[in-house]
Amino acid sequence: MFRSAVLKLTGLYLTIIVIISLFFSLAVYQVSMQEFRRGLRRGPNISRGSPILRQIQEDRQIQYELVRSSVVSRLLISNIIILSIGGLLSYYLALRTLKPIEEAHAAQHRFTADASHELRTPIAAMQTETEVTLMNPKLTLTEAKSQLSSNLEELSKLSYLTERLLSLARSENIELSVDSVNIDLIIKDAVNQVAPLASKKSIQLRTLNASKAIINADRVSLVEAIVILLENAIKYSPEKSQVNIKLGITKKIVSIHIMDSGPGIAKSHQAHVFDRFYRVEQSRSKEKTGGFGIGLSIAKEIIERNYGTIRVKSQLNAGTTFTIELPVA
Ligand code: ADP
Repeated sequence: MFRSAVLKLTGLYLTIIVIISLFFSLAVYQVSMQEFRRGLRRGPNISRGSPILRQIQEDRQIQYELVRSSVVSRLLISNIIILSIGGLLSYYLALRTLKPIEEAHAAQHRFTADASHELRTPIAAMQTETEVTLMNPKLTLTEAKSQLSSNLEELSKLSYLTERLLSLARSENIELSVDSVNIDLIIKDAVNQVAPLASKKSIQLRTLNASKAIINADRVSLVEAIVILLENAIKYSPEKSQVNIKLGITKKIVSIHIMDSGPGIAKSHQAHVFDRFYRVEQSRSKEKTGGFGIGLSIAKEIIERNYGTIRVKSQLNAGTTFTIELPVA
């Protein structure tokens, strides 16, 4: 499909070049022949009917034909050169134009496949377990209850995943309402949302260098992105540890550092953690944390739509720092 789209676009570009080239060739031909004819007409004054005049006219005719065929062949050669270079250039431009579309298409395809796989796994597990339980003629109440609670666990995973998928779709499509907002209020909002999660693990959340800096951002989505980072920091940190939020302000940029003392992320994984469905320890992290590897991709999408950047710095067994940078209003 991509190949044929590239060829079609190349054809379209080439048609435009052909039309322009033919138009100019025709104009050049007309002008040069007109000029030549005008030059020929300017000649000595000889009386009509004289044999010299006939001779001159015949010579002129021969010269005219010679010049005409020379102009035509030169135009033909330049057209062939223009078309060859134009063809190559059109192909290159068509490739460059369509490459991002193809990449987006491939990413969309990968995403749909990954999402379907993630949705199918808990559904298949629930289906098999329920069928096995139902086939047991001596099913006890305890067994039935255990089955139901296992189903509930799978359902909560599904509900978490669908919620995150919706978030992702929203972060791509909704119109953000960008406004001047106080960075302190955004941090406070996010901290309030994750406070219950932190207290469950007795983790202390601290905001350092609180500031009244004003940024231009969509408040709701920015809070959501910071909540994702704080949830991760809490999720991956040991109990009774600290998660610090440090603000850094310059004339142009507000930076928010979210620092934890969790297991850290190896260098080889750091470049990929913002990819959709990317998990560092595929099965173990999912078992332990119930993550699906899309939180950070949502956070990145949101931050970039708010004209900011996000990066990670981490050391194994020492902790992780996620840094968001946003332009000051
Ligand atoms: P998940 O929902 O699985 O947490 P994310 O996209 O939020 O997905 O994170 C991707 C991966 O990055 C996680 O599976 C985890 O391995 C790693 N990760 C994210 N945040 C941290 C952190 N603060 N400390 C250690 N690892 C982290």
